[in-house]
Parts: sequence; C-alpha cells; structure tokens
Amino acid sequence: MSGLIQRESRENALPETANRPALSVQGLSTSFTKQGRDLKAVNNVSFDLAPGEILGLVGESGSGKSITLRSLIGIVRPQGRIDGSVLWKGRNLVTMNEPQLRKIRGREIAMIFQEPMSSLNPLLTIGLQITENLKAHTSLGRQERQKRAIELLDLVGIPAAASRLDDYPHQFSGGMRQRVMIAIALASNPELLLADEPTTALDVTIQDQILRLIMDLRTELNMAVILVTHDLGVVAQSCDRVAVMYAGRIIESGSVGTILKAPQHPYTLGLLQSVPQDQPPRTPLFSIDGTPPALDDMPTGCAFAPRCQQAQGTCLESAPDFSLVGSGHAAACHILETARPSLGENK
Ligand code: ADP
Ligand code: MG
Repeated sequence: MSGLIQRESRENALPETANRPALSVQGLSTSFTKQGRDLKAVNNVSFDLAPGEILGLVGESGSGKSITLRSLIGIVRPQGRIDGSVLWKGRNLVTMNEPQLRKIRGREIAMIFQEPMSSLNPLLTIGLQITENLKAHTSLGRQERQKRAIELLDLVGIPAAASRLDDYPHQFSGGMRQRVMIAIALASNPELLLADEPTTALDVTIQDQILRLIMDLRTELNMAVILVTHDLGVVAQSCDRVAVMYAGRIIESGSVGTILKAPQHPYTLGLLQSVPQDQPPRTPLFSIDGTPPALDDMPTGCAFAPRCQQAQGTCLESAPDFSLVGSGHAAACHILETARPSLGENK
C-alpha cells in the first residue's frame, strides 16, 4: 500500500494531544424553506476534528447526519441555507464561492455518499471515472493516471484490478461498487473523508474489510474521517469519538469508550439499552418508543422530551444547552445540567 501514498504520513495525532484541529465547525445550521416556513435540518452544530481522528456521527434516520456532512462542503440542494462557520485549515468553507469550494471538494475533502450507484456514472467505465478524478485533482500524466487507477482499485481490494478498468458500474456487485466509490474518493489522497453510511448496505464481511481499509488509510495518510452510521458495532470498531445527533442537534459527544460505556443523555442511553455489553450486534438497534419530531413540528423545549421518560417541566419549556458532564464528554440535557458548567452549544 505504501507505494501508493504520495503525501508523507505523519505521526498520528490523538484527540487529546492534537491542539490544532483540521476542521472546526461552529454553530452550523442548515435550513430549508417550505411553504414560507423555515425548517432547520441542522441546528447549531459545533465540533472539532483533529488530523487523523475518526468521528462517528450517529442518530436515527432523519436526525440530520447526511445534511450535516453535505453542509460542511456546501452541497445542500435544493435551496438549503447554511449558516455558521466551517473552518477548514483556517479557511471558512461556508463563505467560499462555488469555484473555491470545487478546488477543495474531491481533493482535500472527499465524500462517500450513502448510495454508491447514484454517485457513479452508469455510462462511463470505472477506469475513466477514476482517471478523470485524478486528472482534475493531481498533476499526473496520462500513463501515470492509468497506473494509479489500478493501484487504487487494488488498494480497495478489487481482485484483478487491471482487468476491471474497462468495466461499467453495473458489472460490479454492491460491495465492489462501494469499493470503487472509495477508490474514487481516495484518488486525491484527501486529508478529510466524509463517509455517509459507507457500509450499511453491505454484508458484515465486506463491511469489516471496508472499515479496516478506512482505518488503515487514516493511519497511513493521517486522514481525518467523519463516519456516519447507525450501527453501534461500527462505532465501537472504528471511531475515536462519537457525536450523537437528534432532531438536527448534537445532543451528546465524547470518546467512544465513554459514550458506549457511560452515556449520560437519555436518548443515547435509549440507543444503547438493547445492546449487550460485550458484543454489540451489527444491526441498527433503535428501539426507543415513538418517533423523532418532524422538522415542521419541533417541540418548544428539548426535542427529545416527548419521548423521554425522565422529562420534567423545564424540558418542555426550553432547549437545553450543551454542558460538560465529564472529561471531554458533553451533553445537552436539562436533567444533567444541574450544578455543571455550561460550555455553550455543543462544546
Ligand atoms: P439522516 O441522514 O440523519 O437520516 P438527513 O440529514 O438526510 O437525515 O435529513 C434530515 C432532515 O432534513 C430530514 O427530516 C429530511 O426530511 C430533511 N431534508 C433533507 N433534505 C431536505 C430538503 N432538500 N428539503 C427539505 N427537507 C429536507
Ligand atoms: Mg442520511
């Protein structure tokens, strides 16, 4: 694999020791206008990501995970309005224009979308789709691009890679297409990979291989990763830190060990309750009664209050702030808030 890596790999920066985040998200909100109403799909989200760090973003379907990832690189359509700041190596992506963003997307920051088929062009061979990406984002010559494309397919574990360059997406199985997507995403040696449920549709063996691949690349390239998943087994296996989303907000965040072993927010507790302590099964396990609120029907207070067995009066009146509940561990919950220092939203 090392022959493939052009950027020098640096020593892995651990979350605790990294004081200069690669990505710093502050007060990110994304709204859609529907029939004159402002619907907030992402609501005041803040987090930092260190180089080489893998952050798991978890939450039920519709909690805003995909829109958060898309908002980071300005690809929310149609008519999404993005507020707040997304500092990437000191530059604010939110205020960048489209040509500036295009230089960063697919080069410094790559994204693997939830559905591989929708992001591969069915009419072009895989080889062409990879070499076009290399042409756009590297200075490699024609023959070098061809060679690199084979190396990339090989890296993501596609057998007989050289013979697959002329194949079209439909000639690959679901798992292999997902690998091709990853190969395209990795063509530019990204410093940040945004991976939206990259393994959800795949069988467990392939899931493991792809997660291991992402983790290897993190180590080799010091690539930071935001991994969206609703599989807590995937989180346990591959993430350093976890942020739990509910109704567009991050409601709890901390190290993987802390969140899985000592969650504080009633929602996170609910997510974890049916997972056996020793071996989280590799299936989504959201078994909390009720459903998340619709964007156009958000409760006045805490968005989780209508489903929360511990909810009190204040929970129905105002949305809780993000507060420290332990070392590097924060949660937004009125019940936990008492006598704890407020860190402001999501910090
Ligand atoms: P997740 O990835 O966590 O399942 P999403 O980020 O896809 O959730 O969606 C969050 C919320 O935003 C959902 O309620 C969804 O219906 C809404 N949403 C997504 N895209 C749009 C859009 N273009 N217009 C209006 N609402 C949207
Ligand atoms: Mg999604």
